[in-house]
Amino acid sequence: MDKQKQIAILGSTGSIGTQALQVIAEHPDRFAARILTAHSRWQLLAEQARRFVPAAVVIADEGCYEPLRDALADLPIQVYAGADALCQVVESDAVDIVLTAMVGFAGLPPTISAIRAGKQIALANKETMVVAGELINALAIEHKAPILPVDSEHSAIFQSIIGEVSPIEKIILTASGGPFRTFSRQQLATVTPDQALRHPNWDMGAKITIDSATMMNKGFEVIEAKWLFDVEPDRIQVVVHPQSVVHSAVQFADGAVKAQLGVPDMRVPIQLAFSFPERLQSSFDRLNWFTMHSLTFEQPDTERFPCLAIAYEALRRGGNAPCVVNAANEVVNLAFRQQRCSFTDIHETIARTMDAVTHINKPTLDDYLATDAEARRYADSLLNK
Ligand code: NAD
Ligand code: MG
Repeated sequence: MDKQKQIAILGSTGSIGTQALQVIAEHPDRFAARILTAHSRWQLLAEQARRFVPAAVVIADEGCYEPLRDALADLPIQVYAGADALCQVVESDAVDIVLTAMVGFAGLPPTISAIRAGKQIALANKETMVVAGELINALAIEHKAPILPVDSEHSAIFQSIIGEVSPIEKIILTASGGPFRTFSRQQLATVTPDQALRHPNWDMGAKITIDSATMMNKGFEVIEAKWLFDVEPDRIQVVVHPQSVVHSAVQFADGAVKAQLGVPDMRVPIQLAFSFPERLQSSFDRLNWFTMHSLTFEQPDTERFPCLAIAYEALRRGGNAPCVVNAANEVVNLAFRQQRCSFTDIHETIARTMDAVTHINKPTLDDYLATDAEARRYADSLLNK
């Protein structure tokens, strides 16, 4: 029998984290939850720890340490708190795979720790690749840490190139188009967070759901694809596909296109990132070809969804530009959810921040940390005007 893989989940209380625990629960002989972490939802983290009995749990918000420790006092589980503890626990010798299911720039430091410790990375936290893809790739090579994509599109691309020895001619990156796919510019100016949080096909965390509505999520996925698959941006074509059945595709030199299809269910790419190169049995829904009526494809509209064009522009500028865009986006994404700005303020604030923050061509990790802070301050100042 194959060895049971020991998994650390960074962000076990989130959408990806809880689905990863379902995958682990389906295959107790193959996977174990070794480390679970969360930001502040200590009650849910304690419940998960009771059920999966990991060796350690980390709560990033230090204010939640005591209630969490007390809730687990009768169990043989180490309890830690703080952002530094996240970076330390992933280095444990016992850990085989680190699932990065935290949201935002905060996922970068623990992902770097895990790579430096040579762990296999199941990458959900796309912000890591958006901010620092070049640096992450260099570290992953240096420390022989394989990076397996969890993002459904990148998993589809990965699955489509298995066994190929020839280069990719083009990546076809599919996008649902989000809840506002058919909205006019006038309509977009007045949409509310509640409307934006109703995604047609996927049930995800709040931040990525807003990013899907602006299509910044797809812009970030273009950047993620460039770094994961070493394909230049002009060979990455975004195609709007409202049904989210074709999860993405790859075209080769002879014109052949390979795609991966399935029911929209994140547990499939999560499980594959854990079990690769094997595929394991699953109880998840199968595609029904006769209720699926039609699969449709459209051009994305960067007039109505400028965030997609901003992401391509950030890639073209290179250096710390994608880091700036990510930071500004985190600020305005939250501001929109808190009704401190309008939907159309999102792209305007990001574009202006991208133009204002000092450009650095070959950023170090410290440069990324400084850029992130500067871009947040600048975006905040624009919102407070
Ligand atoms: P979520 O908001 O549902 O969950 C985020 C998790 O991270 C929670 O467990 C939270 O406690 C933890 N967290 C948040 N901020 C933290 C911090 N500062 N320090 C420590 N922990 C922190 O988010 P999600 O939808 O599960 O997305 C997680 C990541 O996966 C994101 O990068 C997202 O882009 C990516 N992703 C998600 C989906 C999806 O279907 N949800 C699909 C593709 C990619
Ligand atoms: Mg995706």
